[in-house]
Amino acid sequence: MDTFDYVIIGAGSAGCVLTNRLSEDASTRICVLEAGPRDWHPYIHLPAGFIKTFHMRSVNWAYQQEVGPWTGGRSIYAPRGKTLGGSSSINGHIYNRGQRQDFDTWAQLGNRGWGYCDVLPYFKRLERRIGEGDDTYRGREGNLTVTTMDWKDPLCEAFMAGAMSLGIPRNTDYNGAIQEGVSYAQRTIKNGLRVSAATAFLHPARQRGNVDVRTHAHATEIMFEGKRAVGVRYRRGGKNGTLHEVRAAKEVILSGGTYNSPQLLQLSGVGAPELLQSHGIAVRHALAGVGEGLQDHYAPRSVARVKNIKTINERRQGIRLIGEALKWATTRRGLLSLSPTMVYCFWHSGETTESSDLQLTFTPASYKEGVQGALEDLPGMTVTSWQQRPESRGYVRIRSSDPFTQPIIQTNYLTAELDRRVIVAGMKLARRLLKSEPLSPYYDHEDFPGPDVRTDEEFLAAATKRGTTTFHPGCTCRMGPADAPWAVVDDQLRVHGLEGLRVIDASIMPRMISANLNASTMMIADKASDLIRGKRALEAAAGI
Ligand SMILES: Cc1cc2nc3c(=O)[nH]c(=O)nc-3n(C[C@H](O)[C@H](O)[C@H](O)COP(=O)(O)OP(=O)(O)OC[C@H]3O[C@@H](n4cnc5c(N)ncnc54)[C@H](O)[C@@H]3O)c2cc1C
Repeated sequence: MDTFDYVIIGAGSAGCVLTNRLSEDASTRICVLEAGPRDWHPYIHLPAGFIKTFHMRSVNWAYQQEVGPWTGGRSIYAPRGKTLGGSSSINGHIYNRGQRQDFDTWAQLGNRGWGYCDVLPYFKRLERRIGEGDDTYRGREGNLTVTTMDWKDPLCEAFMAGAMSLGIPRNTDYNGAIQEGVSYAQRTIKNGLRVSAATAFLHPARQRGNVDVRTHAHATEIMFEGKRAVGVRYRRGGKNGTLHEVRAAKEVILSGGTYNSPQLLQLSGVGAPELLQSHGIAVRHALAGVGEGLQDHYAPRSVARVKNIKTINERRQGIRLIGEALKWATTRRGLLSLSPTMVYCFWHSGETTESSDLQLTFTPASYKEGVQGALEDLPGMTVTSWQQRPESRGYVRIRSSDPFTQPIIQTNYLTAELDRRVIVAGMKLARRLLKSEPLSPYYDHEDFPGPDVRTDEEFLAAATKRGTTTFHPGCTCRMGPADAPWAVVDDQLRVHGLEGLRVIDASIMPRMISANLNASTMMIADKASDLIRGKRALEAAAGI
């Protein structure tokens, strides 16, 4: 059996950063197990390929959530990357870190070293920011290129003018001192190509010669000796593929993401005893918090029909699409270099006393049934609105002892009363934005939720009918002190009560942050790489 210092399960956003940092020491040997294939498919690298990989089962786990109490009887689709780069290879490329208070809250929950001033140096170390930004907050020398949307669209400009007409200021850098305001989105795109965690971190690390990346390698169980994790069992070639084992002399690192990390812990006998026993799994280590606490951003998409101007909907059809393909091939610019959202807006619902608690995005396009994946034929524009720090929590639990069966995903969207109030406030603001004076030359009529929707109850009913995930699940292996009943890992990301095992990915977030999760997941991994190596933490930011 092969033995490495570290075995990393999952080459996603976190796994790729970890691999890069841990392999800096030439004497360290690392094995990375990735269930999906290499990231060779062109749709991964072409920004507009997002719309294709969204449903492409060869690189996507394509999970389906359970019907929730407030999802109008619908099971909401939950895409997840299954290839090198993980979800960063199929995501919407947006770079958004979150607010100071997100991380200060993590620290207040008992996690030393995770306050904003502690984590800011790691965000900076990862990043190669090209464009505006104060170097107090932005990094210029890291592997992860971050650019600003360079497509200047009249509808986007009118939307931003509309926001300003409502008192929302223009903010040139929402990843700087203050998040609130409106601006073009910042993206992990370089020269018209996606910058995934694999292209930025994993592929350069593979050049070092001490990294063994195994694709199509689906981890089915963590192996233990007593309370110590010593290796991983995996199958190559699917459910009926060959069984292999690999040993870790130092640590097993679980970076399978918010749905799969708790699933693999549970399959390996780590979790709530009743759940494990109900599936005939022997309890290796009772840990009630595994899989519990799932949070996500739930978003209705408000749509208006557009007149007097072309939107992306018509520009991506027929002969025009061929023209766009040629443009991208020769210049790396044009429609195919765009992200699914183009303008970002952060503002207050008025329902909480917190700093901005609403995130809204604008796209001069609209999608069938309000779900990203297929553009509509008629000209349309969309404002997606969501509550940044929801209170509702759900869970991820194994459905069976078969590692190839998707786990039960119940996010319990909108079950907290506050979440329902904020989501309604977000939809009302979306309507005001779409109806603002600067957008009036282009605004034809509201398609969703529609002019008949006027009361809070009607807005809420519309939200439950058409809201979807924004693909930001987290918090299923939460970081917290040993005496917190919900905690799965400590503030060094070691699983409580076990040895040689850490969880490092979006699942360790103790509370949802006010951002898309890719940037902070990579930050978590970068900081964890110093914890693993026993290195002194980067000096906390001062005077900010
Ligand atoms: C469609 C979509 C759009 C998104 N848009 C954005 C965006 O624009 N901006 C943003 O910041 N965030 C976005 N996100 C979210 C962001 O990409 C994720 O939060 C982030 O990538 C999570 O990183 P992770 O390391 O926790 O998990 P992942 O990146 O999902 O990595 C987990 C990896 O583990 C592998 N794996 C899982 N189980 C096993 C197993 N048993 N054996 C072996 N390998 C396994 C998976 O195949 C995967 O490669 C989006 C996500 C999606 C799906």
